[in-house]
Amino acid sequence: DSNQLPPGDLEFSMAAIDKKILVLSGKGGVGKSTAAVNIAVELSRRGLNVGLLDIDLHGPSVPRMTDTSDVHCSTIKDKIVPIQAGNLKIMSIAYLLQDEKQAVIWRGPMKHTVIKQLLGNTDWGILDYLIVDFPPGTGDEPLAAAELIGDGAEAVVVTTPQQVAVGDVRRCITFCEKLSLTVRGIVENMSSAVCPACGEVFNIYGSEGGRKLAEETGIELLGSIPIDPKITAGADEGRPISESGADEATLKALACIIDKL
Ligand code: ADP
Repeated sequence: DSNQLPPGDLEFSMAAIDKKILVLSGKGGVGKSTAAVNIAVELSRRGLNVGLLDIDLHGPSVPRMTDTSDVHCSTIKDKIVPIQAGNLKIMSIAYLLQDEKQAVIWRGPMKHTVIKQLLGNTDWGILDYLIVDFPPGTGDEPLAAAELIGDGAEAVVVTTPQQVAVGDVRRCITFCEKLSLTVRGIVENMSSAVCPACGEVFNIYGSEGGRKLAEETGIELLGSIPIDPKITAGADEGRPISESGADEATLKALACIIDKL
């Protein structure tokens, strides 16, 4: 029962983390978790100490994408012990649930308590980066989570180039402004596809969405990740993009995003 989680010191935990990056999206299915997982994995491969926190209570995908679906977390003294993979520490709401569907029926105050505990009670130690996979949208849950994380966090907004998704980004940006959260940049996902036969890149939704959005909002486009079936297959098998056999263009796009964070 999540009510039984030990109390902790949220501010103390957050103060030991140099950079907090909140990965947001206006709606689900745009690749927010994919971005969060791969940013965290790649930063840790560069030798940095990184935490990856999944607080997408309704659809925690971090365990599947990191091949930790069967994992349950232990607690030592008052702390929840995150899953450690090299210098990456991973924590997901899913590790604490007996039943996957449990979180879906929680009311607001319960979700707030759980998010607070995942942030404050997890034994993150000293980190260079904490990457947080946020709940989608701009409702109560992301709002509560952003408030709990507090000062100094930066947002990365993930979108696809379709017009509706771009509209969602604007809402995300307004959300960040209200919370005085700096938007570090936009990641455009599924922006183009590479022909498996000839290697030619074609833009399914047109090529201008991300760039136009960046111009309109004055927020930097950090990079555009193509649609790549290797990403989907890799995610389902718990492998990050760098180990999925993804196309060279995909790897380059990812590296370019990471360089800016
Ligand atoms: P969200 O967190 O926004 O709901 P996910 O990251 O879970 O979205 O992505 C939704 C699905 O799309 C997943 O199955 C994921 O593997 C797949 N996916 C995400 N980005 C790409 C991409 N660039 N190319 C191919 N598949 C992708």
